[in-house]
Amino acid sequence: MAVIRRLSNRIFVTGLYYVAKDAGIEAKIPERCPRAESDATCRITKFSTRKRTCGMGYPLWICICSNHNYHFTVYPPGWIPFARNPIVHLTPDGKPIEIVHSDSDSEEASPWSFTMFKSVIAAAAGRLWPEEKQLGVTGSPLPVNYHGVARTQKRGIKFFMKTFGLSQKSHHKWREKVCDLLGIEMAMLQNSREKMNARSRGPPLWQVRGGQGKEILDSLTASAKTGNKLLELMQHA
Ligand SMILES: [Zn+2]
Repeated sequence: MAVIRRLSNRIFVTGLYYVAKDAGIEAKIPERCPRAESDATCRITKFSTRKRTCGMGYPLWICICSNHNYHFTVYPPGWIPFARNPIVHLTPDGKPIEIVHSDSDSEEASPWSFTMFKSVIAAAAGRLWPEEKQLGVTGSPLPVNYHGVARTQKRGIKFFMKTFGLSQKSHHKWREKVCDLLGIEMAMLQNSREKMNARSRGPPLWQVRGGQGKEILDSLTASAKTGNKLLELMQHA
């Protein structure tokens, strides 16, 4: 199941990865490349791999179609080009990840804490990322605050609000689209939008926004299907 997608003007290929005999993770070679016309046949082979310092934790495959002289990367399910985090957290072969047990107060209890919406989940837990970058710990490949800084987190929350039609400027028509596509109740979205844009004496606004955002995200099934719908929204938001 390889899918050729468009994000802005960029064409990219999503394909499945699976655990190989040597326990490495390998892509399933797609049958068609983005250059293929409807009746054309492709001849696709593995060309090389690309290591990523952050992201899915296994190298991405770059394939070549010798019929169309075209190289392309195969992105795992839920991932899009240049992203540090997936839209939705899935196994390499596209299945939802089941959380068997987690402390209920743990951020990781939400499947969205491993996605590009993790800024929202952290804010819901009352956790603001640090103001400044910190240096890495010796022996660890990750910097201390590898999630990012507060500025990035607040930008992530705004991105979430824009995608879901929750900003003050968002249009009602957009919210209708969000509700139709994701099966969210309009009343829930309206109510969240009001709270996310109101000043209150309670917790800081970023935390209120996080809390409302988490409720919306947790009402969605973290599946490949939801990922496709979110991608569609992100393309037009
Ligand atoms: Zn081709």
